Amino acid sequence: LSSSRTLWELVSRRAALTPDRPLFLQDDRALTFGGLAARAERVAAGLYGMGVRPGTVVAWQLPTRIETAVLSFALARLGAVQTPVIPFYRDREVGFALRESKAEFFVVPGVWRGFDHTEMARRLGARGLFEAYDDLPEGDPSVLPAPPADGTAVRWIYWTSGTTSDPKGVLHTDRSLLAGGSCLAHALRPSADDVGSIAFPYAHIGGPDYTVMLLLYGFPAVLFEQFALPEALAAYRAHGVTIAGGSTAFYSMFLTEQRKRPGEPVVPSLRLLAGGGAPKPPELYDAVVREMGVQLSHGYGMTEVPMITMGSPDDSPELLATTEGRPPEGMEIRIVDGEVRLRGEAVCRGYLDPAQTAEAFDEEGFLRTGDLGRLTETGHLVLTGRLKDVIIRKGENISAQEIEDLLHRHPAVGDAAVIGLPDAARGELVCAVVEQPPGAGPLTLDAVTAFLRAEGLSVHKLPERLEVVDALPRGETLRKVLKYKLRERYAGT
Ligand code: ATP
Ligand code: MG
Repeated sequence: LSSSRTLWELVSRRAALTPDRPLFLQDDRALTFGGLAARAERVAAGLYGMGVRPGTVVAWQLPTRIETAVLSFALARLGAVQTPVIPFYRDREVGFALRESKAEFFVVPGVWRGFDHTEMARRLGARGLFEAYDDLPEGDPSVLPAPPADGTAVRWIYWTSGTTSDPKGVLHTDRSLLAGGSCLAHALRPSADDVGSIAFPYAHIGGPDYTVMLLLYGFPAVLFEQFALPEALAAYRAHGVTIAGGSTAFYSMFLTEQRKRPGEPVVPSLRLLAGGGAPKPPELYDAVVREMGVQLSHGYGMTEVPMITMGSPDDSPELLATTEGRPPEGMEIRIVDGEVRLRGEAVCRGYLDPAQTAEAFDEEGFLRTGDLGRLTETGHLVLTGRLKDVIIRKGENISAQEIEDLLHRHPAVGDAAVIGLPDAARGELVCAVVEQPPGAGPLTLDAVTAFLRAEGLSVHKLPERLEVVDALPRGETLRKVLKYKLRERYAGT
């Protein structure tokens, strides 16, 4: 299976091996591996009948559902170029994606969670608009051209989260996604008896990445159209989920549930929490492992390279808590001037904008990630922040993440974002924006700086401004804090 050249080849091979085993479980429905292959072919024929050809750019903004996965694989079968858009995105991001990708078709769910996607699409002048929530177009597969043979053509355009600037359109091939998925499988080492789960939007690059792992190992995953407690936990229990995954916020959610019933497993079948994509507070690892009695594998990934490193069951607890794990075989990591650079099959082909591509890759073809880090002697990666997240005050570089990590230890701090604000005298000043946990007492700048000094932060890094907010502004996909919004809000005030 792992020698498959295209995603469709992998689907076909898996379908031939274990046609009747479930692949996706959602509510009381299931789609088998054989079902995916058969349905995706019929839907590919339906799309073909509507004019979708190999190479046609098709944007879709659909929730995490079995039908969405079928549509995505139907496009892969056809060899179309698909650009998935996160379902929570609105006019600004969607308009951007449609324009930049020059999408010839746009697939929407109609009215979803009270929002009329069709009307938005019309407003944006979307071409080739059609709705596909329950009903996917179907046709007779005999009309279809042969499946794509070349796995190295650009067939996927994903959008970065837009944390540091406008989102960037990232170009992936079947090959890069296959490589990403096998990296994930390599790190988690699942077996055919596992039951996974996808709690993030399927429109995120993690969707195909995770699905490749399911196809390689032949085990199912539970899908959630709307991830909400307590229904989600009930579904985990009902399906006997063994691997639950999501971003950092996800671990905290499990922990909160666990603390309501200490000693009693939240989901008895669960053996592994696996996720990544955002920093994990150092305390969280210990708490999850100790209080929940499950393993935690946290990983580092980006839209450009869905899986870079991941904690593995072989790592010591200390390494799992303090590093992002090791890269899989085939992923080269280099640190240049503190910045992490990557080369390997799972790395994207570039960006939609050729100027961005030229800027992003160095002379030897390594991708500049914009992330700061170092490698331990054992080859484990430690991330220390983002290049664009360094505050320069009076010529001194200050890492926002170092201060954030310390702030997380303060009992009256729930989450914290440290930003630099323009300052005439010093270049930038250090501003800490803090979200408090329920019931926490008031917080003052003096109290915070005294705490940070006691924790050993050097004086030249101490924040000189504190803002306490009800909720930090966050991106919709991974709930990452959007610092540019904070900078906009506080600069010059
Ligand atoms: P943009 O590129 O548009 O500014 P973004 O980089 O946030 O947005 P994504 O591709 O979704 O968009 O996120 C990738 C980034 O997330 C990484 O470059 C890194 O900064 C951060 N990240 C991912 N995994 C981790 C992790 N385990 N720990 C810390 N940061 C992480
Ligand atoms: Mg990025």
